[in-house]
Amino acid sequence: MPPLSTSLSTLSGLRIHGVQTGGVTLKSAHYRLRRPSAFRLPAILLDPHWTSPKPILSWVIEHPEGLIVVDTGERHQAQDLNRYLAGADPVTRMFIRRNFRLHVEASAELGAQLPRLGLCARDVRWVILTHLHFDHADGLAFFPEAEVLVSRREYDAQRRVPQGAVFSLWPEGLTPSLIDYSSGAYSVFPKHWPLTQAGDVLLVPTPGHSYGHQSVLILDHDVTYFLAGDVVFDEGQLQRREIGGIVQDVGVSRASLELVRHFVLTHPTVFLPSHDPTSLERLANRQVTHLEERHG
Ligand SMILES: [Zn+2]
Repeated sequence: MPPLSTSLSTLSGLRIHGVQTGGVTLKSAHYRLRRPSAFRLPAILLDPHWTSPKPILSWVIEHPEGLIVVDTGERHQAQDLNRYLAGADPVTRMFIRRNFRLHVEASAELGAQLPRLGLCARDVRWVILTHLHFDHADGLAFFPEAEVLVSRREYDAQRRVPQGAVFSLWPEGLTPSLIDYSSGAYSVFPKHWPLTQAGDVLLVPTPGHSYGHQSVLILDHDVTYFLAGDVVFDEGQLQRREIGGIVQDVGVSRASLELVRHFVLTHPTVFLPSHDPTSLERLANRQVTHLEERHG
């Protein structure tokens, strides 16, 4: 898969880059929840069907207050899963080895792609992780000088019982800043946390896919760029009210999906999930998502 990125200048003068750091192929039952949902993990393990390759996307925001990275993508070492997962707990190791096929070239890693965008990893001020799944956090090693921001709920729960987080891949001594969203409601979201002084980059909790998943909103006049992580795997799932098969909590995930739908229905939104093959194109075209307002 050739290195791929796209860039857009917002009306307020920020520059947003979408960067594909590689690809991942998943079990069909991983991508889409089947019923009965209580058996979702065995359904994934036993599923003989694989999806088409999906991108692993990271986002880079050139902001006057500093360079921001949202999710760090994968490194090419992930292609040798035995070695890559040597330090992971046995359950995580088994699950990833059986259910993921990763395709990452060294030239596609975020650390390699930044210079091609005219940017330098040492200049990154903040790294925001939407959640701690390994395919979002593996590139932390590229940013030893950045402040890493994670939801407290995600960090504490993954430390207690890892579900997709592989801390052995993290740089030694890394201590993230933990976010509690202490700034009250923002729009439909009951809590938020403004990252920038300008108040134009916000973190909002969107849990369910993982314990404390969060999304990043970039406000640009009347348009919001919604960096959605894995709230859903693609825009079509938001349209169809379809959650992924890997969700940590089905009910919480559905509640987050409804909240995000409510937001997208009431604000012009460029909706950008991390594994959607159309996210980069929709960013480049500043393409707003239109949802059908049906109930079911
Ligand atoms: Zn995930």
